[in-house]
Amino acid sequence: MEIAPNVYWLATGSVNVYLVVEAPNIVLIDASMPRQQKVILDFLGRLGYQPSDLTHILVTHADMDHVGSLAALYQATGAKILAGADSANLIAVGKSPKHMPIIVQWIIDTFMKYGAVPQAQISVFKDGDVLPFLGGLQVLATPGHTMDHFSFFSPSSGVLFAGDALNTRNGRINLTPPNITADKTAAHRSASRLLELSPAIIACGHGKPSATHTSDDLMQLFNSLRQE
Ligand SMILES: [Zn+2]
Repeated sequence: MEIAPNVYWLATGSVNVYLVVEAPNIVLIDASMPRQQKVILDFLGRLGYQPSDLTHILVTHADMDHVGSLAALYQATGAKILAGADSANLIAVGKSPKHMPIIVQWIIDTFMKYGAVPQAQISVFKDGDVLPFLGGLQVLATPGHTMDHFSFFSPSSGVLFAGDALNTRNGRINLTPPNITADKTAAHRSASRLLELSPAIIACGHGKPSATHTSDDLMQLFNSLRQE
């Protein structure tokens, strides 16, 4: 579904991915769970593009439900992968960052590895970088849910790709639940930073993208974060 001009939302099970289609650049934001590459490439096909037309894959963070199909997509497309330095380190060994309740973390670390991508194949971005998509896509370090987390904001279109720094499950904008948050203070600071941008469209990793919120809705959440 097109959520803004040239920006497509694809729900793959419980996690979203997004495509920015500005040929010759076609950019995927996040890479879903393992074994979702076919779903993503089929969607690209329905938009009229071949796998080899995918030029870039941006990573918000190295949780398995955001990079699970990254290696397979890289193999199938040859797209350039862009990620933060800490995410790149994790992707190179196929591990998720630590932020889960202890038992769940143990299960993930022990049983739930995803396909790794060699570090040399990943270009590293940092806070303040501007990527040449959607009229200039700002790279924002947004640690908290995980410490390697980044978000991306396009001021000209108003689209915010918030990954898991925000969440739109249950039809409202919120933070990712505290029990899967690595650092709650950092998560609040990061969410506040994103809300201050007054994004017109909030495209998160989980939940339907939000386009109908008002600035009052954003201000309310912003104020509640300051009070906690
Ligand atoms: Zn996550």
